[in-house]
Amino acid sequence: MARILLTGGTGFIGSHTAVALAEAGHVPVLLDNFANSEPSVVEAVGAITGASPTLVEADIRDRDTLAAVLRDHKIDAVVHFAGLKAVAQSVADPVAYWDVNVGGMIALLGAMRETGCRRLIFSSSATVYGEPAALPVDETAPTGAINPYGATKLACEQLMENLAASEAGWDLVALRYFNPVGAHPSGSIGEAPRGSPNNLMPILLETVTGRRGPLSIFGDDYDTPDGTAVRDYIHVMDLAEGHVAALEAPGEGFRAFNLGTGRGTSVLELVRAFEQATGVPVPREKAPRRPGDVPVLEAAVGKAERELGWRATRSIAEMCRDAWRFASRN
Ligand code: NAD
Ligand code: UDP
Repeated sequence: MARILLTGGTGFIGSHTAVALAEAGHVPVLLDNFANSEPSVVEAVGAITGASPTLVEADIRDRDTLAAVLRDHKIDAVVHFAGLKAVAQSVADPVAYWDVNVGGMIALLGAMRETGCRRLIFSSSATVYGEPAALPVDETAPTGAINPYGATKLACEQLMENLAASEAGWDLVALRYFNPVGAHPSGSIGEAPRGSPNNLMPILLETVTGRRGPLSIFGDDYDTPDGTAVRDYIHVMDLAEGHVAALEAPGEGFRAFNLGTGRGTSVLELVRAFEQATGVPVPREKAPRRPGDVPVLEAAVGKAERELGWRATRSIAEMCRDAWRFASRN
């Protein structure tokens, strides 16, 4: 049993990871400033696991508070989700993204160094691969940012690598998420972003619940079997369990792992799978390609299987059913 601090713990992936950690016998402590989430998530997590986790309201850039939390709660390891994640917003306001994402990481590592906590798992992204030359993309592929959001993720990884090279005793892991979708099967926690969503599944859910018009399918002339772009969608509970596996497989220095399924699904395939899994029709229309989108992104998943003993098991149908259950209840 370990005591784990989850920064951004009331967010989409953080809340599901809190459930997975509690179910594996660990003690999650959540820290958030509610920039993109609600405090009520804590009770929803508690209703699933039987005990509401401790919640600390704080900003990830507040190093002194972070150090106090690490000490007071006797934290063994940190999972760092807190950050800003909208690519278009990062183009419009790069300073805010570097401030929260990179400034937050600097404050966190400073507090960890000060208090002697040396284990960190960081929410990185497949965006660090830019447009990969070979697919499926593995962890040895060259990295490169194609937008400010990606630049902040890469900068955080580079800082972790520099720190691990400078001092012995650190165990720093970057988990490069592919496309997380779905929700806890209870339907009581899920993806509930503030403002207008940017990702396919939350946009699709707005369409089918009548909160927006037809789903725009961005591009039907890619070099893919049906012309629409292909991504590696992963159920958020599989992703959450990937964090538990990473925490339970200690190592040394800096390591990066892909968390995906290894299987690609096109936009049209996902839309049809949603209709089939839920019986709910998805009104849709063709739209131009979205600038900056890569045609295909699929994870090589062998490293996580070998070194963490983890692999994703849930299907696209489960991702759609669970995402719909949460959306239709909320
Ligand atoms: P989310 O927005 O639901 O969760 C992030 C949480 O961080 C939110 O609860 C938000 O309130 C909190 N937060 C933001 N700024 C903060 C600050 N200054 N201080 C404290 N808390 C703050 O997003 P998510 O989808 O759960 O993503 C979690 C992490 O995973 C992020 O770092 C994101 O970049 C990364 N990631 C997400 C995806 C995805 O598609 N969802 C893909 C790859 C990587
Ligand atoms: N997409 C789409 N319509 C939308 C939102 C997304 O066709 O309204 C497509 C997008 O072009 C991409 C895929 O869905 O090919 C996944 O997009 P998302 O933003 O969810 O993830 P990412 O671009 O980060 O892979």
